[in-house]
Amino acid sequence: MKALKHPGQCKVCGQLKELTAEHIPPKNAFNSTNVTVLPFEEAIKVMAGAEGRLPWDTKGLKGTVQQGGHKKYCLCRECNNNTGSWYMRAYTDFAKTVNAIIQQEGFTVGNSYSFIIKNLYPLRIYKAMMTLICDINNDCFGDESLRHFIMNKEDKNIDTSKYSLYMYLVSTQMPRINGLSAIVNFNDAKSPVLTSEMSSYPIGFALYLDKPENYTPFGINVDIFSKFNYDDKCDFQFGGIPYLDINSQFPIDYRSKDDIIKCVESTEQAMQIEE
Ligand SMILES: [Zn+2]
Repeated sequence: MKALKHPGQCKVCGQLKELTAEHIPPKNAFNSTNVTVLPFEEAIKVMAGAEGRLPWDTKGLKGTVQQGGHKKYCLCRECNNNTGSWYMRAYTDFAKTVNAIIQQEGFTVGNSYSFIIKNLYPLRIYKAMMTLICDINNDCFGDESLRHFIMNKEDKNIDTSKYSLYMYLVSTQMPRINGLSAIVNFNDAKSPVLTSEMSSYPIGFALYLDKPENYTPFGINVDIFSKFNYDDKCDFQFGGIPYLDINSQFPIDYRSKDDIIKCVESTEQAMQIEE
């Protein structure tokens, strides 16, 4: 038997197979320019504010340049081809339409917008987002019904009391991709919040697992997309969807640069008082 070049467990079907390189998000959804991928020990310098760095300051850090967009070996050829033609095409069209609206309407960062998109395939877009989230996590969160949902294009059986999907618009080219993380806020009884997020111009989305009932995530809830049939196409009204800059690699951190600077300054002041 020929040795496999990129063997691994496919993130969708779960089988041990030869994995193929996949653009995450899809190449034609504005993921075709070179990106610098930072190894963990470099990324943590930005995350932790080492050497007085602000979260968007990656100058001088040692990363590897990925030519032609962010790619990963996640899926076997069959799953890559299936999810590509069933879901990613619709997602790519959606991203292109969103880009056209942002450009034509001249959206400003920090505001929220309402608009209608015609001829949208809601279930396909929902499944594209769920596939991309599964790509960056392990074993479909151990949920066989989620695996079945992704592997069968017509399947609509998804538990939206367990999975809550939220979406927003992003202006920045710097992608933020985070596998499942527990966000703990010690001042807030609603935590911890379990989430996995992907944001890359022009769309960001975060999946929340077993979201606490009284916790309201950022963005608009798009669980309704999962209620449509695979071939359903409709005109969809988006109401009050936020458009923002991504300024840190922390999951679900939607602060503006000004807010982050203020936060760093107040922490520094508090430390001086303690000294
Ligand atoms: Zn597979």
